[in-house]
Amino acid sequence: MARKWSRIWEEERVYEADPKEGLPKYFLTAAFMYPNGPAHVGHARTYLIPDILARFFRGLGYNVLFPMGFHYTGTPILALAEGLATGDPQYVSNVAKVFQVESEELMKLKDPVDVARFFHEISKKAMKLYGLSIDWRREFTTIDPEFKAFIRWQFKKLLDSGYLTRGSHPVGWCPRHNMPVGMHDTKDDVEPEIDEVYLIKFAGLDGLNYVVATLRPETVLGVTNIWVNPNVKYCIASVETSRGTDTWVLSCEAAKKLGFQRNVEIVREVSGEDLIGRKAVNPVTGRVIQVIEASFVDPKFGTGVVMSVPAHAPYDYVALRDYVLNKKSGSWEGLEPIPLIKVEGYSDIPAKDAVERLDIKSQEEHILLDNATKEVYRVELESGVMRSDLANLIEQEVIKGARDFILNEISGVPVKEAREKIKNFLLSNGFGDLMYDVMNAPVYCRCGTEIVVKIVKDQWFINYGDTGWKKLALEALSKIRLVPEEARTQFVNTIYWLREKACTRSRGLGTELPWAPGWIIESLSDSTIYMAFYTVIHKIREYGVPPEKLTYEFWDYVMLGSGEPDKIGVDRKVLEDLRREFLYWYPLDSRHSGKDLIPNHLTFFIFNHVAIFPESLWPRQIVANGWVLIQGEKMAKSRGNIFPLHWLVSTYSPDVVRLAIASGAEVESDLNLDIEVLDSTKAKLRSIHDLITSFSNVSDLSDVIGLPEKWLLSRFARNVLGAYEDLSKVRVRAACLKIF
Ligand SMILES: [Zn+2]
Repeated sequence: MARKWSRIWEEERVYEADPKEGLPKYFLTAAFMYPNGPAHVGHARTYLIPDILARFFRGLGYNVLFPMGFHYTGTPILALAEGLATGDPQYVSNVAKVFQVESEELMKLKDPVDVARFFHEISKKAMKLYGLSIDWRREFTTIDPEFKAFIRWQFKKLLDSGYLTRGSHPVGWCPRHNMPVGMHDTKDDVEPEIDEVYLIKFAGLDGLNYVVATLRPETVLGVTNIWVNPNVKYCIASVETSRGTDTWVLSCEAAKKLGFQRNVEIVREVSGEDLIGRKAVNPVTGRVIQVIEASFVDPKFGTGVVMSVPAHAPYDYVALRDYVLNKKSGSWEGLEPIPLIKVEGYSDIPAKDAVERLDIKSQEEHILLDNATKEVYRVELESGVMRSDLANLIEQEVIKGARDFILNEISGVPVKEAREKIKNFLLSNGFGDLMYDVMNAPVYCRCGTEIVVKIVKDQWFINYGDTGWKKLALEALSKIRLVPEEARTQFVNTIYWLREKACTRSRGLGTELPWAPGWIIESLSDSTIYMAFYTVIHKIREYGVPPEKLTYEFWDYVMLGSGEPDKIGVDRKVLEDLRREFLYWYPLDSRHSGKDLIPNHLTFFIFNHVAIFPESLWPRQIVANGWVLIQGEKMAKSRGNIFPLHWLVSTYSPDVVRLAIASGAEVESDLNLDIEVLDSTKAKLRSIHDLITSFSNVSDLSDVIGLPEKWLLSRFARNVLGAYEDLSKVRVRAACLKIF
């Protein structure tokens, strides 16, 4: 039945939408897929929601456009093509099994474009059978010459607006591929979160510098000791700083990582064990402290050397308690927690309160300790105030003026303020430094190498850190309807948090930056305004406008209405028709993607729209749907738990799959899908079918409408109205439950 109807829809061109003056329009798009595998149940969900809306609005009399394209840009396809090219039968059969395709077919794929076309075609066929009401005339791939011309124009616009910069910035980096990596290049699509880690230099009495990493520089006043991990290899290295070369002690792993950010030369290695008992001086208080061992110290985070602040850091409190218990004397003498911050509802030692409340027994209880750390960190940042007696902690002035600084600038101020001030005080006096780290480490490149942070010089960046641009993006966001509305905070935070983003790669498919040959615009940067491209691509092909005529001036006219149409080299009537079609469909009425794209794609989508288009053409709605979990687990190629769409629709039929997805969870919630859910949905549809067919056997049908019939009609009308209201609010599951 599905095959029959999808064929008829195609023959009758029922989903091909052309401008119809006088009819209200509705234009919606979903994030196009990467064909580095077949469309799977995750796509099935993200595409079903707009399809349901498309059908809903058509039913209301709207002229609806729902197009689809394919994203070939970037490295994911390369990784798969490289794997297949090895011809390793184990690899090929594994891919074939996960994707439910034939090994022999895979063996024929010679290069990345072959791979992309193969999965593109499988996916497109499945989408048609699945019943997506797409206008396929407007389909394109991101390596089509027309699309490349469009992207070159977009980047010229960004350059002219001052939003593209060139310079040195920290980026996520694969040391093996030697290039920047973002979410689309990592295993399981994890966005590497890069942030600054503050470094504080404790001058050792042995002539070395113990450089500790911290997220809380304001607690330097309360340091009782320095931690190193006795089981870890440390390096003594000469490190480039803003004040010349300096000799640092840091874990060898940290030295290697830091080497991607500045010059680091390893002088020699020492064991953590060897460092224990050495002494160093607190740069602010002048107190002499000891190096003590602790197993919780992670050599991969920061420098692998940590300052101990037992009053305000649960890990430090517990590790010190362990240490004291193991000592013969069992005495805290010289290591007593030093209170720095007052917080309502806590004693002078908030770390102790949190540890005791959670009944944490040892420094190995990482989950509990992480929770305690988050709690103390949060309450102290939100409502903590620096104590007024802190100047008494100064034993000697290592930095001249430290006592006055603490007395006048730090005592009694909120933690938030103190953090910035102490950070700057240390930086400006040569005792502070910064490094970058991956906060959600470990994140792996698709090649299996762990991602580091590299300071990349002479790179092109999109400057999402531009404050004027952020303001515009926030303004646009304030007018966008979000589904769910709860996602707004995450959008706002992302807009504030975003900085320069490396926008080119040295390899992969895609569009070259016009003024920097060899640099390919990466996938999250060439997919921000392509919704506009759908409005005209079919006509560009229909009119036979060759790609070389798709100049900056051409797009300026079609997209922005600027410039002199007679001087573009394309028939004026054609230009005017394209312009008319674009203006008919734009702005975009609804944008759909998974919620994992909020911190990147969906926010970039807002930024780039406000950069290029006038306010009247800014997007109107964003719908971010939840994950699809397979038997409670996140879907991942590396787990092999992917339900490919072509397999789903041919095994269960499109109706079963659509109903299971639509009724399984409300749009923003995660949907758990497994064979049982599909089977029970099938049984349900079957029973509806049987009920309806059983009516055909009823012989005594009459036209009399009595009380029972009236009741039934009333219930029916109420459900229709309810479903209408639900769908108007994009409550797909609620509507589904009323209807089925
Ligand atoms: Zn790699």
